[in-house]
Amino acid sequence: MSLPELPFAPSLCLIGGHWVAAQNKETLDLTNPSDGTGLAAIARGTAVDIDAAVAAAHTARADVWGRSTAAERGRLLMRIGQLVKENAETLAQLEALDVGKPLTQARNDVTALARYMEFYGSAADKVHGETIPYLDGYTVYTLREAYGVTGHIVPWNYPMQIIGRSVGAALAMGNACVLKPAEEACLTALAFADLAMQAGLPDGVLNVVPGLGAEAGAALAGHPDIQHVSFTGSVNTGRLVQTAAAQNVVPVTLELGGKSPQLVFADADLNAALPFLVNAGIQNAGQTCSASSRILVERSVYNEVTDRMSAAYTQMRAAPALEDASLGPLISARQKEIVTDFLKQGADLPTAAQGQIATDAPGHYVAPTLIAEVPPDHTLAQDEIFGPVQVLIPFDSEEEALAIANNTKYGLVASVWSQNGARQMRLAKQLKAGQVFLNNYGAGGGVELPFGGTGHSGHGREKGFEALFHFSQLKTVAALHG
Ligand code: NAD
Repeated sequence: MSLPELPFAPSLCLIGGHWVAAQNKETLDLTNPSDGTGLAAIARGTAVDIDAAVAAAHTARADVWGRSTAAERGRLLMRIGQLVKENAETLAQLEALDVGKPLTQARNDVTALARYMEFYGSAADKVHGETIPYLDGYTVYTLREAYGVTGHIVPWNYPMQIIGRSVGAALAMGNACVLKPAEEACLTALAFADLAMQAGLPDGVLNVVPGLGAEAGAALAGHPDIQHVSFTGSVNTGRLVQTAAAQNVVPVTLELGGKSPQLVFADADLNAALPFLVNAGIQNAGQTCSASSRILVERSVYNEVTDRMSAAYTQMRAAPALEDASLGPLISARQKEIVTDFLKQGADLPTAAQGQIATDAPGHYVAPTLIAEVPPDHTLAQDEIFGPVQVLIPFDSEEEALAIANNTKYGLVASVWSQNGARQMRLAKQLKAGQVFLNNYGAGGGVELPFGGTGHSGHGREKGFEALFHFSQLKTVAALHG
């Protein structure tokens, strides 16, 4: 299927308010993961384009954005949110075609993007410093200030949501931004920037340079005139980004991967749990940083949970994004190869159930797969698969469940299914995770809820009010007046 009509050319970068070709005039091809057809050519930006974008952002900060009031920034973000809502269907179609995610999920991402603009728009003028009681004769107060120019490197799996949460918070605090979307899927990043310009965002406040990670991404991460880097992606790239930013001694927010568990106790309400157990692993074909890829189940209900999850799996269909089935294809042939390789490593484990691939389209489809009796130290229980694969692990006690849950290098999200309030409170404290859910998973993804990891899942927090503190810094002013 061809793209909806767009008011911008996808082969260009947005720099200083102008749509321009990459200086080398080169492009990269975007393909539709649902059927392998060509979607669009995007710019292959490189270091010179990043230089131009960073310079434009500094000019915009100096001329207008740095002088804007918080209320003005807030109103602008709200206007962008309004335009996102008015263009919701186009954005959802673009995301579905580009990422391969079912249309309903793409529509949810648009709603989230609009909510981020509303949330950070309405929060922009609510962040302030404080006065500090100090020695006699002094008045001491703090000012919360923008960093300056922030760099945003985002992956392909949830472009709109990740742009909303990081660029939204950064703009609200008065930063000007340079955004490097993923080379696999970047159409909604461009469309969002176009809507921001239509809403009246001054030239140069948001710049977008598509390109390869090793070229445009690396240039942005290590740019000497960037004052903060927000990175969402894999652990290996996160290390490179943090190392590059360290050369300029600038702070980095790393939102990386996960191996997030759900702990199902015998006293859980299984009817309530079941949809969360399955959907949290299969949403976006499992290509979700906070996917719940490990299901830990108390042994007395292990067979029942296995049977009921298996029944749900056998109903699942993988099909092109616009057919809006349970799941779409994976993003690329490479991602399919990675997931297939993991499945081969688990070939001697019992496959509890598989869904179907319900299309002949030459996309990168993998049948959703549930694997039973997985030893906690097996690679399938330790490593991020980033595909539609969940593993079941039985446990015999709360202590054992906790030990298994915490025994990976990650720590992004966890959930506990139990009616026992004391157990819920204990585990909420003891689980290694940036978010813990009690008798749910994900809480509907609320933009209000701070999000981020521990361990190899990263550091720093995005989403919620907390993100505003991560995209600003504190200055202390001490006046001696006698
Ligand atoms: P990736 O690290 O390969 O790419 C992410 C981004 O980094 C892309 O824009 C890419 O172009 C860029 N990049 C690549 N090499 C770079 C370099 N040397 N310097 C700077 N930038 C570079 O990740 P991916 O495979 O696209 O995404 C999947 C990973 O992202 C998974 O591990 C997933 O868990 C993680 N993820 C995390 C979150 C979160 O919020 N914690 C959200 C989504 C995805």
